[in-house]
Amino acid sequence: MSGETVPAEMLVPRFLGRGEIDFVPRPVQEPGREQLLIRTEANALCGSERGQFFDGSKVTPGHEAAGVVVVTGPETRTAAGTRGVIYLMEFCGECRSCALGFTNQCTNKRGDVGFNKDGGYGPYVLINENVFFPTGGDVPLAEATMLLDVMGTTGHAIRRGLRLREDVRSLGIAGAGPVGLGALAMARMLLGSEVTVVISDLSPYRLDLAGRLGGKTIDLREKTLAEGLREHGLDEVDLAIDTSGKGAARQSYLDILSKRGALVCAGHGEGLSLDVSRDLIAPERAVLGSEYFRYDELSSNLQILRDYLPYLGQIITHRFALQDIQEAFEIFWRGETGKVLVEQ
Ligand SMILES: [Zn+2]
Ligand SMILES: [Zn+2]
Repeated sequence: MSGETVPAEMLVPRFLGRGEIDFVPRPVQEPGREQLLIRTEANALCGSERGQFFDGSKVTPGHEAAGVVVVTGPETRTAAGTRGVIYLMEFCGECRSCALGFTNQCTNKRGDVGFNKDGGYGPYVLINENVFFPTGGDVPLAEATMLLDVMGTTGHAIRRGLRLREDVRSLGIAGAGPVGLGALAMARMLLGSEVTVVISDLSPYRLDLAGRLGGKTIDLREKTLAEGLREHGLDEVDLAIDTSGKGAARQSYLDILSKRGALVCAGHGEGLSLDVSRDLIAPERAVLGSEYFRYDELSSNLQILRDYLPYLGQIITHRFALQDIQEAFEIFWRGETGKVLVEQ
């Protein structure tokens, strides 16, 4: 079933490596059983695409896509014309994890959109229906991309922390990149404005944006984390989220964690060394990982996005047309951005 005319061929960006992207023609595929063809309208750039940009990619990258269903395959229920976002992990829906809703921990995953299957930087993308999440007509698709890494990944990390610590009065965030800014915004939404949220980084641009979103900023070029914390009237934080992936950042947040506190590591990268007696046993602290998010978190996050669209929209600072994707990445890597989008 098709809702609009679909071309036989499209021009997709090809990530050659060495920081170069060109465009090549590719056929637009027909959806098979339980598949949908999506016309992408927006895809957000992500720090996790560094490897694809500099080392190249066999598939079309893009894992933070929003678009419109244009052709539906057999045995699907979604109508052509439905707007929504694409969940990265093609989960099986049947394994032990999926049965409990832990779709981000599927043990029989079919693929990762934009990493080992063609993703959202192409004009059209073919997906399994179960990873499509309809967002309704009232949220612009550009802003809807924030339901993925910006709100999804960070909301999950905060909810993981809240399972271990109920009485959170303060939260610290390492890194004010797009995920750090998302964690800040989601902390304000999920914990309420009476909870103090501190956020540290080395980039004045990103700290300025974090300040506008209501974070208590700490500029690590000028002071240590502990000094910055004291200036905001705190000695410790109850929850910490590491979005930086840096060992030094994880270590310094562990040092300022309160008794019963939890450090949630949401940024891939370096390690962390623990003195188990001092760091974990005596203060009953927890260190835990958080990977992407559960598909079923999208519906409550959509409600948050609807309620706070202008506030959350501040996280998107740059928008480029698809043909300018090269420039979009170059500006993104310079670090003076929030979330950067390519739109078609
Ligand atoms: Zn991402
Ligand atoms: Zn599964």
